[in-house]
Amino acid sequence: MPSPSSSSAPIAVLWLRRDLRLHDNPVLHFASTALPGYRILPVYIRAPYSGEEYGELGEGAAMGVWIHATLKSLDTDMRSRFGSGICFLRGDSVLSVLERVVMKTGAKTLLFSRRYDPEAAAFEEKVQKTAREEWRIKTKTFNSHLLYEPSEVADRLRAGYSSGHFGTLMPFVRTCRSIRAPTRPLPPPSSLNVMSGEDANLSETSSLDALDFLPLNCPSPWHLKLLASWDAGEAAGLHQMKLFVEKDLQHYERDRSKADKPVVSKLSPYIAVGCLSPRELYWAASDKFRPGDSEFSKTFDRRLFWRDLAYWQQSLFGPLYGRSIRGHYDEGMQWSEESAVRLKAWKRGKTGLPLIDAAMRQLWETGWIQQNVRMAVASFLTEYLNVDWREGARWFHDTLIDCDEAINGMMWQNAGRAGLDQWNFHIHPVTSARSSDASGQFVRSWVPQLAKLPTKFVHAPWEADPYALRTAAVQLGRSGYPLRVVRDLEEERKKTTKAVQEMQRLAGPSTKNAAGYDLISLPDGRNTHVFTRRDLRLQWGGDGSPAPFSSDGQRGKTKEGAGGGQADSPKNIEDHLIEGAGGAGRGRGGKRGNQQSSSSSAIRGGVRGGSSRDRGGTRSPSPKRLQQTSLKAWLKSSPQPSPDADVNETFRQTSDMPTGVSSSSRSSGAAASAAPVSSKANPLAVSQKRGTEKKHTSTVDSGEMQVGRQRRAAPQGESREGRRPGEGAAKSLRATGGGGGGNGSASAEGASRRTGGSRWGRRGPSSAATESFQAEEKGSNDIVMINID
Ligand SMILES: Cc1cc2nc3c(=O)[nH]c(=O)nc-3n(C[C@H](O)[C@H](O)[C@H](O)COP(=O)(O)OP(=O)(O)OC[C@H]3O[C@@H](n4cnc5c(N)ncnc54)[C@H](O)[C@@H]3O)c2cc1C
Repeated sequence: MPSPSSSSAPIAVLWLRRDLRLHDNPVLHFASTALPGYRILPVYIRAPYSGEEYGELGEGAAMGVWIHATLKSLDTDMRSRFGSGICFLRGDSVLSVLERVVMKTGAKTLLFSRRYDPEAAAFEEKVQKTAREEWRIKTKTFNSHLLYEPSEVADRLRAGYSSGHFGTLMPFVRTCRSIRAPTRPLPPPSSLNVMSGEDANLSETSSLDALDFLPLNCPSPWHLKLLASWDAGEAAGLHQMKLFVEKDLQHYERDRSKADKPVVSKLSPYIAVGCLSPRELYWAASDKFRPGDSEFSKTFDRRLFWRDLAYWQQSLFGPLYGRSIRGHYDEGMQWSEESAVRLKAWKRGKTGLPLIDAAMRQLWETGWIQQNVRMAVASFLTEYLNVDWREGARWFHDTLIDCDEAINGMMWQNAGRAGLDQWNFHIHPVTSARSSDASGQFVRSWVPQLAKLPTKFVHAPWEADPYALRTAAVQLGRSGYPLRVVRDLEEERKKTTKAVQEMQRLAGPSTKNAAGYDLISLPDGRNTHVFTRRDLRLQWGGDGSPAPFSSDGQRGKTKEGAGGGQADSPKNIEDHLIEGAGGAGRGRGGKRGNQQSSSSSAIRGGVRGGSSRDRGGTRSPSPKRLQQTSLKAWLKSSPQPSPDADVNETFRQTSDMPTGVSSSSRSSGAAASAAPVSSKANPLAVSQKRGTEKKHTSTVDSGEMQVGRQRRAAPQGESREGRRPGEGAAKSLRATGGGGGGNGSASAEGASRRTGGSRWGRRGPSSAATESFQAEEKGSNDIVMINID
């Protein structure tokens, strides 16, 4: 065999994907140990979205930025360790680029790590087939992404879900553990004969910048804020892991849910992009504390199984972004008529609910938020604003630096009641905020307008009296902190529940088992019930009419709590999440219908959930439709649209984002709690305002709270109802005011509404948001309206 440095030594192409690391990288390990005589050509390929590599929505914008930074770091590491780095390549399709590489280099072998996104997995099969039959080279693939192979778990799980609700965590964990412990991580390769693109005569070798992950031509410095918040690369990920395991893991069980001082690892961005191995983290934590140790965290011990659970769900049901696993939830659901305005307020961190706004601003600034807070914002969007969960998933997809389609899809489906699980608890945006951010520090950090408010008001500024507001220099309304997008939170939540019940009624009895639980079909044709919140169970009476479920014929309370859930303490949330609220056999419906029922033909015909293959049309936007929508928006805004429309949508929306929170150079460790350095307006927002076409053109003045006085109050009795007939005319202030987090009757916000006569007075809560935005449009130079389709 020729020496590996000789030009006649065989070449193995090492196709890098979501395995951007040297440690515990089975591909590199194999190349180093099993192919000692080979020259190794590491390639990273980017092609326009074509369904080959990037899943349903393409690579999210924040994720793209993070991949860029990680690739840069890995390239440097490889150069210093092996003398040569990564060969970056672009092309029309990944397949055509791979083919060119193989043909030009005469490579004998192609090595890569598997991805487990359905589209990427299908593409891998195609690559392997083409390599075998057309290029006539060998391929070898590896698992560097998950603790377990989804298919091996799936085989065992057929029996595993005989206890617990289908799709919940603990049966999954037990099944995984029954296979074996996760494998121990591999060391980085001690030597590797890496060759460069030039050595391989690949003239088309590109630069990392030319892969276009960064919005270099975009006037917005948005990506710089993300990069300032995190140290990219393997060394940084491993260092962060070491710090977490040594110092913080012992406090994880107690403090993980605190929004103001979360004790969590903040490793998800590293894991998502593959620069930290999940096995490395699993074993670092497991070797540090064992079950029985007082510092052992059973919650952390399960964390990485959640990832595998998401991929298992995706392997069963196909991509999780577009269609609900409970397929009938996609038909006939009446989302809020105010969805567009509500969504916009949510994305911008301008809902008027401080915890939600702080979280959404943190997301925009750093690309990350802590789990409980993610749940709070997701729950707020789906339960209180009644906006389609897909919209939230899509925004997260674009803005999360740790975006993982499987996890994000699973969590959003669950938040939207459409997945294998439903959250059987309320995360009230005020009461929950008061327990998770007891000091108010989280809100103060991200919503500087409220920084000086006393803690008792910081989560509900509308409860503050004018004196407290003035002392804290807080203005509510147009030129200050926004008024609430919805005021009567309980009422809004009830409306959502009613809409879901109505959707279920339309879906008919074949979508329910006898105990009122939702039925879904599995890819193998069997049906199973899935955990269903008690208030979402329906029973059909003898007359064929449905009624809300009342304990599966065993009327009275179940352990699952009344109605749509229990109190929102972190403990309750965690308990629910691991087993489903009914727990293993706890739910009564669960007892009856726990097993995967052998499919009755009636059910088989009726259930529209389940396998992605057997779902009918939906009224909700399919992923393709979502893509087209954003492409349309992009086309509108750019004469030269990029094919990566989704990626660009976020950049385009930069000026649509909250201001008053500015970039800061926090380290990842401080990302959750550090205060922003300044609150200057976003200059881009100002400059873009001039050229931006505004969507809302109503001439109605806004209600506005200015401490101690009312500006431009409308004449008594003037209201929007008169101008837009039919909109919320029947709602009275008394009926809607002061709901949710507090009774606003004595509050400044309530005072504003009353004094104005007015515009708030007889309007439904939802129009408040529209108006708030209109007010901002007119009165503030740091907010712009962008027509988001
Ligand atoms: C609506 C919603 C969307 C989410 N989208 C994503 C996403 O796109 N990518 C992502 O990695 N996580 C997502 N999560 C899960 C979770 O919030 C993050 O993994 C976690 O907050 C990351 O912070 P950490 O690294 O400090 O986590 P830790 O608490 O320190 O946990 C350690 C690791 O375990 C894994 N993990 C933790 N929780 C979960 C979970 N619920 N599901 C799957 N894996 C988990 C992550 O890899 C994480 O880094 C989402 C949660 C919600 C509610």
